[in-house]
Amino acid sequence: MQKIHTVLSSGAALTLLLYALPAALQAQQPAAPPAGRAGRAPDLSLPIVQDAFKITDARFLIAFTRYCMLNGPNTANGKGDAATPSQLFDNLYYVGKTDVGAWVLKTSGGLVLFDTLNNPEEAANIIVPGMRKLGLDPDQIKLVVLTHFHNDHTGGLPYFRAKGMRLMASEVDWAQLGGVPTPQSVIRDGQVVEIGDTAITLILIPGHTPGTIAAMFPVFDHGQRHMAALTGGIGPTGGLDMHQTVIGSLDHLAAVTKQAGVDVLLDPHEAIVDSTAWGYIMHPADRKPNQNDLIVGKDPFQRFTQMLTTCMKARVVMYQQQKPGAAQ
Ligand SMILES: [Zn+2]
Repeated sequence: MQKIHTVLSSGAALTLLLYALPAALQAQQPAAPPAGRAGRAPDLSLPIVQDAFKITDARFLIAFTRYCMLNGPNTANGKGDAATPSQLFDNLYYVGKTDVGAWVLKTSGGLVLFDTLNNPEEAANIIVPGMRKLGLDPDQIKLVVLTHFHNDHTGGLPYFRAKGMRLMASEVDWAQLGGVPTPQSVIRDGQVVEIGDTAITLILIPGHTPGTIAAMFPVFDHGQRHMAALTGGIGPTGGLDMHQTVIGSLDHLAAVTKQAGVDVLLDPHEAIVDSTAWGYIMHPADRKPNQNDLIVGKDPFQRFTQMLTTCMKARVVMYQQQKPGAAQ
């Protein structure tokens, strides 16, 4: 895992990926196509994959290779180490691991924690000391937002629940976690939660889980305001239905983030979506003054969602080729 990350952060990864890509795409060829004169039917997903490739930014090539094939590489396998806790923006901090994130947003009314790592021990031994190292008081957490129910995001939940902190997740994902604790714990699509001076907009983007959410909030870089979107999870779990769900969610995400002028992309598994951002987060000592690789720009953010949508459409075709008639 560490080796993979080291390679990915070095920049050599892009070269590796580009070499690996044609072979990987070849592997997507349908198993038993109707034999033509050449003995092989054309892969109808390839032109769509090529469209996605034209849209993508080099920094998102890992997302492209992961999401533009049915069984793309997974660089987040739950075996990461504690990352160096660091400040990412004037009001945003990273207290997560090398393969899954935990983020703290600072407001005038206290702190908001996004995701809780794998278990209560990681909450106590990674999140809490990470916060203290950054001068953040864990007792000032006013809200814990869970991006989706998967254990690497919610395993630390009991630690914060025991402290009586306000917890929020979508209703369907709460069902996986033992039920909605209080009516105030349910995230509804488009809901705005205000903590102190900060408005956090929560939207539902089902597909990775039935109740995955994204959060939008302002971040400040040396006093300059930007708008961030923390996407809880993008890759669909499941077959064709979930792919169609994700396509709808990505459309929703694109529309809402465009309207809000989102120019900062954050993901609990940054290593999967954005190699540049991942390197920036994991190597705080190497950052140059005024460098902030998390600010991708409004247009690149929209192109990122477009690329993902296109990849999902390609995957639908791949499914149909595997199982003719499956998507009808
Ligand atoms: Zn997940």
